[in-house]
Amino acid sequence: MSLSKMQLTTTEHDLAAGGILTISLKALRHNYQAVAKQIAPTRAAAVVKADSYGLGADKVAPAFYQAGCRDFFVAHLGEALKLRPLLADDATLYVLNGLQPQTEETCADAQIIPVLNSLEQLTNWQKLAIKRGVTLPALLQVDTGMARLGLSHEELDHLADHLDLLDHLDIKFIISHLAVGDEFNNAFNTKQLETMQAAIARLPKMPVAFANSGGCFQDKSFHYNLARPGVVLYGVGPDLPNHPILPVAELSARVIQVRNVPQGTPVGYGCTYVTPKPMRIATIAVGYADGWFRSLSNKGSAFYGDTRLPIVGRVSMDSITLDVTDLPEGTLTLGSLVELIGPHQSLQDVARDCDTIPYEILTALGHRYQRIYVD
Ligand SMILES: *Cc1c(COP(=O)(O)O)cnc(C)c1O
Repeated sequence: MSLSKMQLTTTEHDLAAGGILTISLKALRHNYQAVAKQIAPTRAAAVVKADSYGLGADKVAPAFYQAGCRDFFVAHLGEALKLRPLLADDATLYVLNGLQPQTEETCADAQIIPVLNSLEQLTNWQKLAIKRGVTLPALLQVDTGMARLGLSHEELDHLADHLDLLDHLDIKFIISHLAVGDEFNNAFNTKQLETMQAAIARLPKMPVAFANSGGCFQDKSFHYNLARPGVVLYGVGPDLPNHPILPVAELSARVIQVRNVPQGTPVGYGCTYVTPKPMRIATIAVGYADGWFRSLSNKGSAFYGDTRLPIVGRVSMDSITLDVTDLPEGTLTLGSLVELIGPHQSLQDVARDCDTIPYEILTALGHRYQRIYVD
C-alpha cells in the first residue's frame, strides 16, 4: 500500500480525534476591543505567548491584528520568529523572557524587540548596536515586586548612575509586571505602583507598559501608555460584576463506549471507584494527555445538555469514564459528543475542580483535538 493511502483524510482525521476544540475568532476580537475600550487612550497589546495560551497563535494573533492590535508579546524568541511572517509589517513583536547570549543577531535581523531584564542583557544588546553602528529598539523591565524578571533595585541604581549604558538603544517602554493584578483590593498593587513610579523617576522620560489583564481593570493610574493583557482576551474575565468579556473556547469529547454494569463493579486504574448500584458508564476519548488533568479523577464532570455526568474512576492518559446513569439508555452512543467546556461548565469551573487557574487548563489542552475556528 502506498504511503499516501496510510494517512487519514482531513474528515477522517477530525472524526478520529478524541474531541473538538472550538475557538471563536469573533469572541477573541470582541475581547480585544472591549479591553482596548476599557483602557483607552492607553494602547492595548496582546500577549500571545505559549501558542496564544494554547489556542493557536497562527490563528489568534492575526485575529487580534484584525481587531486593531499592533503590539504582540511572546515569551521566547522562537515564538516571535514563528509569528513574524504571519503578521503585517506594522505589527511589533516583543520577547518577554529577553535574549539568551548569541541569539541577539537573529532577533535584530528579524526586527523583533527584546525585553531586557538585566544589565547583562542590556549590555549584550548594546554591544550588537555598537558593532552594527545602529540604534537598536528594546523594552527595559524593572522588578517592582515579583523577584522574577527585570532589573533589581541595585541594578536600577547602577543604571541611573551610568546612563551611558542606554546609549545606542531606543527604549520603547519601561515595563514591569503585577503580582496580584487580578485582585482588586490588594494593597500590594499600590505598593508596586509606587515602586514603579520611583523607578521611572530615576530614568530619562520614556513611555511605560505596566498592566496585565487584571491591571487593565484597576484604576487608570495603572494603565500608562501600553497594556499587556493576556488571559482576559482568551475569555477569562476579571472578578468584577458586569464585565464585557466573552468566553472564547468550547471543548467537547467523543464517546467511545457505553456499558451497563452491576453494583460492585470497579471502574478504572487502581479500582478507586466501585459502583454503589447498577450503573451506566460511558468512556470518552479525552485523558490527561489532552490536558484533562488526572486530579479530576472521581471529581470533575462532563455535561450532556443540562445533565451533569460525574467523572468516576481515575482519568487515564487517553480516556475518562463517566457516570451516565441519569441519561436514558441509548442517549449516548459511539461517536456522541459530551461537553467538557461550554455553557454548562466554564473554563473557570474546570480550573476550580483541578485546584488550578484557567491559564493552566488552556495551555495544557494539547494538539490531539479537532480544532475549529469559527468566525
Ligand atoms: C503573561 C504575561 C502577561 C499577561 O498576563 P495575563 O495575566 O494573562 O494578562 C503580561 N506581562 C507579562 C510580563 C507576562 O509574563
